Amino acid sequence: MCGIVGYLGKGDAIRIILDGLRRLEYRGYDSAGAAVLQGNKLQIRRCCGKVDDLARKLEENPVSGNVGIGHTRWATHGKPSEENAHPHTDCGKSLVIVHNGIIENYMSLKRELLREGHIFRSETDTEVVAHLIEKYMKDDGFEEGVLRALRRVKGSYALCVISKSYPGKIIAARCDSPLIIGIADGEKFVASDVPAIIRETRDVIYLDDGEVGVLGEESDRFINLDGKKLHKLPVRITWNIADAEKGNYPHFMLKEIHEQPRAVEDTILGRVAPDMTAIHLEEFGMRKRDIKSIRRIVMTACGTSWHAALIGKYLFEEHIRIPVEVDYAAEFRYREPLVDKNTLVIVISQSGETADTIAAAKEAHSKGARIISICNVVGSSITRLSDGIVYTRAGPEIGVASTKAFTTQLVVLYMMSLFIADKLGKFSGEDVKKKIVELRKIPQKMELLLRRDDRIKEIADRFYKSTNFLYLGRGEGFPIALEGALKLKEVSYIHAEGYPAAEMKH
Ligand code: GLU
Repeated sequence: MCGIVGYLGKGDAIRIILDGLRRLEYRGYDSAGAAVLQGNKLQIRRCCGKVDDLARKLEENPVSGNVGIGHTRWATHGKPSEENAHPHTDCGKSLVIVHNGIIENYMSLKRELLREGHIFRSETDTEVVAHLIEKYMKDDGFEEGVLRALRRVKGSYALCVISKSYPGKIIAARCDSPLIIGIADGEKFVASDVPAIIRETRDVIYLDDGEVGVLGEESDRFINLDGKKLHKLPVRITWNIADAEKGNYPHFMLKEIHEQPRAVEDTILGRVAPDMTAIHLEEFGMRKRDIKSIRRIVMTACGTSWHAALIGKYLFEEHIRIPVEVDYAAEFRYREPLVDKNTLVIVISQSGETADTIAAAKEAHSKGARIISICNVVGSSITRLSDGIVYTRAGPEIGVASTKAFTTQLVVLYMMSLFIADKLGKFSGEDVKKKIVELRKIPQKMELLLRRDDRIKEIADRFYKSTNFLYLGRGEGFPIALEGALKLKEVSYIHAEGYPAAEMKH
């Protein structure tokens, strides 16, 4: 997840971009950048940190222009750094691109482009798109060059491109990541979300998947990836500005609950073999030989992540058949935990900055254990002390009670258990395939469930006056019961307890 803003018109592009990016920081804030067309040069400013850091950089080293794009990043590929911050550019620095999403086949595209002599300057998946457009633009011009590049890309994207050879144009495209176009008199805006541009215009065109907008000051064209013309009409946004930031949900927690299908989909993207018989976890960082030496697994975490770990135990023991212990990070760190070089320690933390979990990872590391972290923030403290990392790709979680981070942690644990089981020869490709087929259905199942929120409201109406709640579950349902009780306590202060269903009779 991240925020994109683009502008084309007669106004000050930098002011509009910075203003828009500030309103999109809830979507990502590990680094930021902007590019404007100044005369016939593309001027790029980027930095690690927040939009305010970018604004300071721009004050020290100003640029100006009437066409530009900007980005506030939440890294998925490559740590947060100036080099990895967007916009990215091609070899000849003739175009710039900002991107939200994941280019699933970026490795194979990058290999191809490197062979052809392209020079890469970042570790991101995004940069391949800049070079692909460069490659195709040479013969086919800007618009067709972008279309040809996008036809080669698998994965999710919302992107925005400008080229110095086509100064009056912005091309915006979308597939599985949100993108809107704002229309005003002689001005065009592109943004990930309404809050970024609501102060400038309320007339908005929602791009759908597979659609591309070629925006000019006077006229726009909308086409699909085959170049077929589309008829798109603006809608008028009537929400107030405060509501817009929460996507018209009353609070961030509800918004994030509804973001779960997307977050789960993103977490799976690029990690499943095309024939679905294997899981690829590039960042796992352990060779087969090391995996074979594991005798015991310890999972350690706090709060909601600890509940994810409890479910992880069920999954790992079922799939891998190696004993798993789950420990609260604060307990683990303050006793003499029994771990050694044949222990795999899996630490789970949404932020990667939970002090007890960091201390637990350090303790385990000092005893020679291997540390793999499951984390939502690229480059955070926990990931820096890990031998391997598998990121959840939930995007920033603003609600204090964790929702989408929890479900994506479960997805990572599930994939990790299949990945290790496969390396240990516990499963055939066919067994893995059956499980992956089911895994891939989850985002859609979540959608269906979320569409029934009226029913959920009815249940809440019936029970909200109760002063005590018991959540019951068996098997993986037991940790889910614990997590359900925790959620209720966190958000309502009503006493709640999770309990293994069968224990009720004892
Ligand atoms: N995958 C891109 C990156 O890591 C975009 C991430 C985002 O959506 O912020 O730079």
